[in-house]
Amino acid sequence: KLLQVEGRLATCTTCPYCGVGCGVNAVPDGMGGLTITADKTHPANAGRLCSKGTALGETTGLEDRLLTPRIHGREANWSDALDLVAAKFRETIEKHGPDSVAFYVSGQLLTEDYYVANKLMKGFIGSANIDTNSRLCMASSVAGHRRAFGTDTVPGLYEDLEQADLVVLTGSNLAWCHPVLFQRLVAAKKANPALKVVNIDPRRTATSELADLHLAIAPGGDVALFNALLAHLADTGRLERAYIAAHVNGLDEALAAARADDPAASGLSEEEIATFLTLWASTERVVTVYSQGVNQSSSGTDKVNAILNCHLATGRIGRPGTGPFSVTGQPNAMGGREVGGLANMLACHLDIENAEHRAAVKEFWDAPAMPEGPGLKAVDLFRAVEEGRIKALWIICTNPAVSMPEADRVATAIKDCEFTVVSDLTAETDTARLADVLLPATGWAEKDGTVTNSERCISRQRAILPAPGAARHDWRIICDVAERMGFGAAFDFTSPAEIFREYAALSGVAGRLGLDFDISDLSDLSDRDYDALEPFHWPRAGTRQGGRFFAEGGFYHADGKARLLAVTHRAPASVPCAEYPFRLNTGRVRDHWHTMTRTAKSPRLSQHIAEPYLEIHPADAADLGLAPASIAEVTSRQGRVLLRVLISERVQRGQVFAPMHWTGETAPCGRVDALVAANTDPLSGQPESKASTVAIRPMEAS
Ligand code: SF4
Repeated sequence: KLLQVEGRLATCTTCPYCGVGCGVNAVPDGMGGLTITADKTHPANAGRLCSKGTALGETTGLEDRLLTPRIHGREANWSDALDLVAAKFRETIEKHGPDSVAFYVSGQLLTEDYYVANKLMKGFIGSANIDTNSRLCMASSVAGHRRAFGTDTVPGLYEDLEQADLVVLTGSNLAWCHPVLFQRLVAAKKANPALKVVNIDPRRTATSELADLHLAIAPGGDVALFNALLAHLADTGRLERAYIAAHVNGLDEALAAARADDPAASGLSEEEIATFLTLWASTERVVTVYSQGVNQSSSGTDKVNAILNCHLATGRIGRPGTGPFSVTGQPNAMGGREVGGLANMLACHLDIENAEHRAAVKEFWDAPAMPEGPGLKAVDLFRAVEEGRIKALWIICTNPAVSMPEADRVATAIKDCEFTVVSDLTAETDTARLADVLLPATGWAEKDGTVTNSERCISRQRAILPAPGAARHDWRIICDVAERMGFGAAFDFTSPAEIFREYAALSGVAGRLGLDFDISDLSDLSDRDYDALEPFHWPRAGTRQGGRFFAEGGFYHADGKARLLAVTHRAPASVPCAEYPFRLNTGRVRDHWHTMTRTAKSPRLSQHIAEPYLEIHPADAADLGLAPASIAEVTSRQGRVLLRVLISERVQRGQVFAPMHWTGETAPCGRVDALVAANTDPLSGQPESKASTVAIRPMEAS
């Protein structure tokens, strides 16, 4: 789809960074870059952009790009590389069974890429060993939604933040991590001075600057706080009894657990807790936004359910300006959830543990094999690589040697794996350097397909620049390998539009099984209409069309009701001790993205924060003898890094913060995620990336 922008033809596409999913208009500048403007018509941003989106055109150059396949570091042709990948996977499966191979994919993939990868692994190889870096981002929200609602359904829309009278941002630095959504909130607060914002975060962040109340909660204290809220709602007669009677089960058990919990475990004062409870309970239109501070926890799923409990018990869900709202990190984390790109899901919200659902998908695909249950989630998957149980691994569009917890250990496991394939834009990532076979993939500006943002809006991503060198699209590479493995008939797609049509048709199966993820009216979309597809929210049919979920109940458990869950506070798994006395919180900075393979190309983006750092409280810095801007050595049981000291009162005593973007290549500091222990939530498998324990000392003393 082309649009006239300032006298030039621009392509309408979608920003590839965060889960806000903003529309952008892109015009090639003739030198490999792009001129980017905001799409005024896109429902996510309506003309807004943030610093990363604005600088997109500076990140599309060809320096560092991988332009031909490589086998053991030597340039090769596609035919030899694909033959080798298919033969190694086939041999491994024949010798050791389908669970001896795995794919590790990415929330940066487009839905069409995700669809064929999932189809190949689950329906044709016959294993569920396909997991994604989105496991590190929002798996606890998925598990919490499924426990409460019966499916992974986000109830609300972005406009709810603008229609609320109270927005609670918990475990979310919205200002830096979802900037355009934050811009919308700032504008809403300006337009409605009565709108209150509460920010719950152990750190004081850019988001806290907007807040009327900042609650510096103890790491892991969210369940205790929201349990206190549930008990308060009951004690003050604020439960919505009619809604509960009609639509919700489990109140008595959830309330008993909430009353038994100790609010002091939140780390907040009685006065702070009372202020929050009174504000929440007395405000009808409340949206609780949560993100990685909630999800990246060994009790992440319980934290999500503690939040959902309060909204369900008051009927504050599915009506304008109300609801719990999980904001996703990556541009297509939500599309990956919809297409079954996680080891414990099938496509279109179908359940891999449901025999009827498995049979329906198997029949639709005419698949020779389907796994009987879930595969290995990310942390377990790399453990299986380390232990030699996974013998052939294909990593697509992600950099786990930097981003996984215990990153150094994961890098060693990948290096020692019998056969590793990496598809990526560049050979210059810590993961790509470890590959036996490197496959050149196209990047954001060269790819066609669809993505889904945090509010269930499906948008087109459109190619603007030609594929460089011999680079191929991810869906094409996966289909090429599938064909060589003997599955050609099921993977003879010639375009993303064809894949989308099949995916849309499969969603009709979900519709027939009673799920609302049914976009099957798009299954006969012409290529032309696919190209022109405007952003749309699902569901596309029925009374909920394009809108919110659950104001009138209609949950997806067999009895049609939601579940309140009995949850209890648990402290983070790593306990500070004399040897490792500090809690390390990791996260993003405003202008970099993931492991910086793209944003590092823009000098403008690096101007904001130029190097990795350790944010530490002045009193702790004084105790340790750390001067401002000196170098600290940070160690944990899992790893060691060197970081520039940033002394600030934004972090509490005993806690430190470090951004996770920089790698051994972009700064000689080591990988911050090497410090993070691989403690995971027992239900979601999401690692606890925000509460590791570390020791710190001045570099001079080491
Ligand atoms: Fe891109 Fe997110 Fe910024 Fe929107 S808010 S422009 S999607 S990075």
